[in-house]
Amino acid sequence: MRIFTNLLVAVVAIGLLGCISVAAPAQKAQQKYEITHTLAEWHKLLSPQAFYVLRESGTERSFTGKLLDVHDKGTFVCAGCGQKLFRSETKFESGTGWPSFYAPIKAKAVDQIEDDSDGMVRTEVKCSKCGGHLGHVFDDGPKPTGLRYCMNSVAMKFTPDAKK
Ligand SMILES: [Zn+2]
Repeated sequence: MRIFTNLLVAVVAIGLLGCISVAAPAQKAQQKYEITHTLAEWHKLLSPQAFYVLRESGTERSFTGKLLDVHDKGTFVCAGCGQKLFRSETKFESGTGWPSFYAPIKAKAVDQIEDDSDGMVRTEVKCSKCGGHLGHVFDDGPKPTGLRYCMNSVAMKFTPDAKK
């Protein structure tokens, strides 16, 4: 009987944990962001390509983005809300065809969410201010972090540093 009770507790616990892990991403998706617009407003504010990536979690075709070959010193900002996301010093050539960085400008600039769409488990990267989809982060990047933030050009804009 004791064993049966323990087993029952374990089953219930697994069931509960299962619910929690399923419920968490949904709660995250409903998270309130500092900057919000209706889809119609976003349509007006963004180019069709930027809307597809930022608001519909699309991915631009590799080697097509305008920011891929930007090597000037400056800051990459969110194309949706202008939040500063990445610095040029952390950009590296990943060979993937998407602009890649080993770290965001600060941890709070991005939200990282588990994403199991398209039959893969990946970590989605969103702008923490407007919730815009930026890309994904992988753990095969260079030192010092070992991370590769694989971003969409169209989800960002580049602001060069002022020339001294
Ligand atoms: Zn944003």
